Amino acid sequence: MLTSHIRYLQSRLAALGHYAGPLDGQRGPLTDAAIRKVLPLLGQPLPPGWQGWTPRRQATAALQALARAEGLNPGPIDGWWGPQTDYTVTAMMTRAETGRLPDWRDIRPGTANPHGWPRESEVSAFYGPHGTPEGRRPPLVKVPSPWTFRIAWNLAQPRSFLWAHEKTAASLTRILARIHQHYGEARLRELRLDIFSGDYDPRLMRGSQTKWSMHAWGIAYDFDDTENRLNWGADRARLAHPEYRPFWEIWEAEGWVSLGRTRNYDWMHVQAARPD
Ligand SMILES: [Zn+2]
Repeated sequence: MLTSHIRYLQSRLAALGHYAGPLDGQRGPLTDAAIRKVLPLLGQPLPPGWQGWTPRRQATAALQALARAEGLNPGPIDGWWGPQTDYTVTAMMTRAETGRLPDWRDIRPGTANPHGWPRESEVSAFYGPHGTPEGRRPPLVKVPSPWTFRIAWNLAQPRSFLWAHEKTAASLTRILARIHQHYGEARLRELRLDIFSGDYDPRLMRGSQTKWSMHAWGIAYDFDDTENRLNWGADRARLAHPEYRPFWEIWEAEGWVSLGRTRNYDWMHVQAARPD
């Protein structure tokens, strides 16, 4: 749950006449009291014992109940903030703002290619041979990151750099600097853009016996795989949400390609190669 979600909840509580505090996106005693009063009034069945939930969980339940009352499907009203709740609440806010729900077909990925990144079928000609599990490596450079990553499979483990093919290292350096400048460290963490799920990896493409993954050249990155699963579309993937548009536009201005934004799958992934 982000401050923007809480600010939206405060505006709904105010519209219902139960909240007169600031719309500041911070839960305080006024907000929490209003949530407890409004929750049973939203016309949605609540699980027994909800009165004993933490204020944060009650706030989540209030957003779930508001979405359900508007005909959206946040899943069960359980007060837990998962990807389904996140998507539905964000969609409800988009509709309040624009009058319609978000739609993947509305996305227009950038088509700039200032560095002439090759097509996928021509990556070997452009970048040279891919790495292999036996130890052959493409020419890799350590690009320091302006913010600290956490490793997805061990969040306690920090990572301060990304491996990059030497031909993409300068571009990656600019991209990381722009992303950091746009969002700032705290917001990057809040958006889970600090969760590193993969860079150089000498492996075959998932589901293929013969095609090498773009990761095997050190020209692809994965972010936050738990909330952007391989087969999820924009209806579930977190990186499809509107607050990530600047993130993607920064990559696309340098010619990189999001498989999510161009093909609506593998939203975790971005690469310096154009799909064939
Ligand atoms: Zn990937």
